[in-house]
Amino acid sequence: MNFYNSLTKRKESLRPLKNNLIRMYVCGPTVYGPSHLGHAVTYIRFDFIRRFLEFLGYKVKLVINITDIHDDILKKSQELKIPPQKLADKYTQEFYKDLESLRIKKAFKYPRVSENLKEIINLIKILIQKGYAYETNDGVYFDISKFKNYGRLSGIIIEKELTGTRVKTDKYEKEEVSDFALWKKENDKWLFSSPWGKGRPGWHIECSAMSIKYLDMPFDLHGGAIDLIFPHHENEIAQSEAAYGKKFVNFYLHSGLLYVNGQKMSKSLGNYIELREFLQKYPARFLRFFVFLHHYRSPIDFNEKNLKNAWETYFNLNERIVKLKAKEFKEKNLRNIVKILEDDFNSPKFFAKLYEIIEKNEISLSNLKNLDKFLLFLFPWRKLTPKEKALIRQRNRLRQEKKFAQADIIRQNFEKKFIYLQDLKNKTLVININ
Ligand SMILES: [Zn+2]
Repeated sequence: MNFYNSLTKRKESLRPLKNNLIRMYVCGPTVYGPSHLGHAVTYIRFDFIRRFLEFLGYKVKLVINITDIHDDILKKSQELKIPPQKLADKYTQEFYKDLESLRIKKAFKYPRVSENLKEIINLIKILIQKGYAYETNDGVYFDISKFKNYGRLSGIIIEKELTGTRVKTDKYEKEEVSDFALWKKENDKWLFSSPWGKGRPGWHIECSAMSIKYLDMPFDLHGGAIDLIFPHHENEIAQSEAAYGKKFVNFYLHSGLLYVNGQKMSKSLGNYIELREFLQKYPARFLRFFVFLHHYRSPIDFNEKNLKNAWETYFNLNERIVKLKAKEFKEKNLRNIVKILEDDFNSPKFFAKLYEIIEKNEISLSNLKNLDKFLLFLFPWRKLTPKEKALIRQRNRLRQEKKFAQADIIRQNFEKKFIYLQDLKNKTLVININ
């Protein structure tokens, strides 16, 4: 399996560092509001990669962190007049529900900042002891001039006059290169104890502390959206490698961003799409499919035209696969098309080839079963309930009795759930795209 490694800027062969196990970390959400489509796309992309690695026979130990202590959470909780931890707990639960509705496989662990303060503080202590961090009257900062590899991932160059400047916020401008906060001394009510007084940890330190705790270092794969390269991932590397004097991670994979009609999604532009809102109109499986049509490193543009085209292709593909099952076809190896994914998970190319094979009917029934199993693995769908199966049988009886109006009502109700019934001469095809 080859992946484009953002650390080395080239495609490299992935070999697990320990036996057959791939230790993988993906930066998770800051929990103070509902998930939007941008979040969903990132988690779906890394779920594809995780599933595919498992398909190839690797064991995957995945960790996704939950940022449940953050200035944004405090700000939102003050607006809503509810305690910050309560707000964070609520949206942590919502996040789990969203992952489930997207049929994303469970991670090994979802560590929370609030449960790992000991590890975070310990890492800051090591950085101070080793001379990479210093305390001021408003916090503890990482001194980027001390870490000679700073900028290796993002290509950012430290200018002499910038060293020694500090930022306490986690939201500084991309162009700004400066010492960053490991611990922020605060005076508000939401505080945690540390050897440097009360306050909150900075954002970057949690990912170093929690990935090392659960995955050790170096670990195999670190994923996240491309906008996390700088400063977040650059800072993760600096903290971890400075503290322990060895490599932090082998591969960094970065996924492309989501745009809406060519623009970045943001609340102020009014083009912000919440995941739940989207899932009322489309099945989760379709969202996975839409994401799959784009290479994971490419941006995705959400617009009416792209969605419409993808929907037609999606429906058509499902229909063809169901119809293929009804007949027998020529031999062709599934392995050949799966190989395409082994090259930096090239999903659009895989899909083009798959479509070509189906188009030419170049697939045998036994291979179709494999293909079907494989597609089901990447795009798990909602299974029909026993009640739904009974309804289909009931509808067939109604049709035999020529009660077509009643049969039609059942069909229409199924369509509302994205399950389509197509009547052939002596059987009914069930096209379940939910
Ligand atoms: Zn992170």
